[in-house]
Amino acid sequence: MSLRDIIIAQIAASGPMRLDDYMSMCLLHPQHGYYTTRTPFGAQGDFITAPEISQMFGELVGLTLAQAWLDQGAPKQFTLAELGPGRGTLMADVMRVASRVAGFAEAAEVTLIEASPALRNMQAEALKGHSPNWIKSINELPAQPTYLIANEFFDALPIRQFVRDGTRWHERQVGVQDGALAFGLGPAQPQPALTHRLEDTKDGDLIEDCATAAPIITTIAARIAAHGGAALVFDYGDWRSLGDTLQAVQDHKTTDPLAAPGMADLTAHVDFEALLRATAPCAHTRVTPQGVFLERLGITARATALANSLSGAALETHIAAHRRLTHPQEMGNLFKVFGILPQGAPPLSGLEL
Ligand code: SAH
Repeated sequence: MSLRDIIIAQIAASGPMRLDDYMSMCLLHPQHGYYTTRTPFGAQGDFITAPEISQMFGELVGLTLAQAWLDQGAPKQFTLAELGPGRGTLMADVMRVASRVAGFAEAAEVTLIEASPALRNMQAEALKGHSPNWIKSINELPAQPTYLIANEFFDALPIRQFVRDGTRWHERQVGVQDGALAFGLGPAQPQPALTHRLEDTKDGDLIEDCATAAPIITTIAARIAAHGGAALVFDYGDWRSLGDTLQAVQDHKTTDPLAAPGMADLTAHVDFEALLRATAPCAHTRVTPQGVFLERLGITARATALANSLSGAALETHIAAHRRLTHPQEMGNLFKVFGILPQGAPPLSGLEL
């Protein structure tokens, strides 16, 4: 039975499905989920992420973390955590450069949170020199200084969508029409959690809500406030959600999110306002375009140094990678980063409070 048939059977039995439930099944169904069955990243996969585009991304992230670790007194034991590490490339690049900072590698306990068994195997391979361990939930992060990274993790968390109708909201749902999956709207209902959105929306506007994102940030912030550390969160999206940003990508092309459940990556823009609101009791930096952050950290100097040893097609790929990571019309503007740090801690490189 395909995932599509499983979903249709479930809708026949219990009615239209919430979008977050549909996304969860598509991404993480134990037999048919996108992340459970595939290794989606890279030139051969369905999409490519910043660490897979160039080692420069992970190198600059690694140096930022190592500097933050030094600035906070170089604790002798700390958690170096990553949410949704994909193929393990980012963490491998981080460890390669940060290991040049005396004491960092010995003090770091590499800790990964990954839902997909297939990707956990790839991460084990990529990080075999660093004895990583996996935890099931963010709540299991040990009570010690915590330096954490997440790239394109929050965009993979399931969202719900609501269309405004007076002071009530219709939830967008997945149903079945003429044997095919189709979107529909549920009955208008009050949504107390969305009261603040009555200020900035009008009838017919669609907003998105990711219920699981903010509690994850709050848990990270609690660890950092209590024990020190920092977090860097990279993702695409903007300040406050407005409009339908649900996107399906298969083979580097966008497709209909309902067309082939489990075969396409499903993501939605991250609502940075919702994440920043959840950072108390920590301080947080401004949400900064990825291109600006990387330029501030000297990506152009690093790109030039690497270019010196390249020629031909490899040089062209490298120049294109630099552009792709930083140019405002590529990932430079849509992708953003913010940091979380203890109140009063020295600032994070490349980011302003
Ligand atoms: N950070 C990587 C991969 C991004 S894709 C990179 O930049 O290349 C999203 C990652 O998050 C995948 O590794 C996916 O399996 C993981 N993931 C998605 N939902 C998750 C969840 N609920 N819990 C843990 N990991 C999840």
